[in-house]
Amino acid sequence: MEVKVASSRGFCFGVEDAIEIAEAAVRDHGAGKVVALGPVIHNKQVVGALEKAGLDQSGDLETIDSSQAVLIRSHGASPETMARAHERGLDVVDATCVLVKRAQNVVKQLHERGYHVVMIGDPNHPEVKGVVGYAPNVTVIDRGCDLAEALPYRERLGIVAQTTHSPEHVADMIAEILKRPYREVKIVNTLCLEVTRRQEAAVALSREVEVMFVLGGLNSANTCELARLCKDEGCETHHIETWEQFEFRMVEGKRVAGVTAGASTPESVIEEFVKNLGKT
Ligand code: SF4
Repeated sequence: MEVKVASSRGFCFGVEDAIEIAEAAVRDHGAGKVVALGPVIHNKQVVGALEKAGLDQSGDLETIDSSQAVLIRSHGASPETMARAHERGLDVVDATCVLVKRAQNVVKQLHERGYHVVMIGDPNHPEVKGVVGYAPNVTVIDRGCDLAEALPYRERLGIVAQTTHSPEHVADMIAEILKRPYREVKIVNTLCLEVTRRQEAAVALSREVEVMFVLGGLNSANTCELARLCKDEGCETHHIETWEQFEFRMVEGKRVAGVTAGASTPESVIEEFVKNLGKT
């Protein structure tokens, strides 16, 4: 099997930083003394390695005791969560990605300048849950959402998007919003260029191959988006986490396969997959 690998794939700087910060925090505070408010990233292998190193990722702010530090993940947290952590006197280790921090600040500023903030994103994603806390009454909209019902009538809208969404999807949503009679719509681009580059590379590769493999957590938003974009190109696409989930039927009758990976997938997972796939 000929295997082609996407020119941009795998770990982004935000995920690399979050892992380094988590490892350093465990070294400084000791095993079992740092509690993350959920898995540090959406990748089982990395989460397992951090757990082994002594990081507790089952965190609930209210059950962390004062001898432990709280780790804020790359997805960030709401101002209420940050305030509560400080109120409880906990040592806060902040691994929020700088691009997520920027989105949080943009939301705050838009509200202060009189815009009703609209966020294009998945309301259940931890990044979105954190970002919307930076202004009151933020409206969250996403695919399949009834805009007529969801969007309030306000004269001035300020729009941001979840960092991992694709520019095409965000542009489609904005086009729909612009069909409505708003006097002023301010759009701030909060998309992550690291993610956009991976999306462009995945789409380009999916046009060259007979089957695409997208590696990464099934709950990782940016990995799911990569898989969706490849499928939309009409390429048979399999979103799996590691080589262990590979089945020979996925490549039966095929000669050229493409491989890409989400921003939270380690290079070791990609290398192992590519090496094994090349032998089929
Ligand atoms: S994908 Fe982008 S926004 Fe998310 S952690 Fe990585 S660099 Fe930050």
